[in-house]
Amino acid sequence: MLKADFHLHSSFSGDSDTAPAQIVHAALQRGLCAICFTDHYDADYPCENVCFELDTEAYYSQISELQSAYTGKTVIRFGVELGLQPHLGALYRSYVKQYPFDFVIGSTHLVDGMDPYYPSFWDGCRPETVIRKFLEVTLENIRNFDEFDVYGHLDYIIRYVPDGNRHFSYKTYGDVTDEILKLLISRGKGIEVNTGGYKSGLGCPNPCPEILRRYRELGGEIITMGSDAHTPEFTGSHMQEAQEILRLCGFRYFTLFQERKPEFVPL
Ligand SMILES: [Zn+2]
Ligand SMILES: [Zn+2]
Repeated sequence: MLKADFHLHSSFSGDSDTAPAQIVHAALQRGLCAICFTDHYDADYPCENVCFELDTEAYYSQISELQSAYTGKTVIRFGVELGLQPHLGALYRSYVKQYPFDFVIGSTHLVDGMDPYYPSFWDGCRPETVIRKFLEVTLENIRNFDEFDVYGHLDYIIRYVPDGNRHFSYKTYGDVTDEILKLLISRGKGIEVNTGGYKSGLGCPNPCPEILRRYRELGGEIITMGSDAHTPEFTGSHMQEAQEILRLCGFRYFTLFQERKPEFVPL
């Protein structure tokens, strides 16, 4: 069974200390047929103790070197994960044109300029209100910028809910979730299955199987798999479970990207 990891961070991301070569070694050890680096670029990220700017020139040159060094051993692709905000459309449109990316993930990391990763974000808020707001911002992000290939970890805000109820209720948020999925499908965009949900203790990937199934039901076909690893340890983790879930949700293929074009691999 072919396994590929299309969501990986290295030390070019502000929240990782892992050299890109260490990721490649881990991928080879785990028998991955292809990997794609997707280091973070979150323009206008508000927090002072971490920086999500990306030195894209240096990053590109490092990944190009690895591609030459590992030709014939594994496939290495050059990607980026953009932290979207509604006002950043024009900036990112011009950014993605400047580099020869194979793959671009668009993600919601911030709600109203604040990061739900930090527990203080949730102070005095009802979790339901925050989750709905996160999905509404996602919708707005897609309306304002659609030059990504897949949307990242659609329901990942569930990882940070402080009251312990970390289950995504499609029943509660189905209306806005459907709107997001329909918009993505109408624009020819995919989603990813992000196995970082297992690392966060959710017991399932992000998004959850209900959303994956709904994307398929609505006609969505483009789905990449990624661990969201920031260390060698998690590179390629839980890919088998993710493939099993995709099959159960009605998918017959998963997707790789090269030069921003999808390639379909049987599951
Ligand atoms: Zn992300
Ligand atoms: Zn990521």
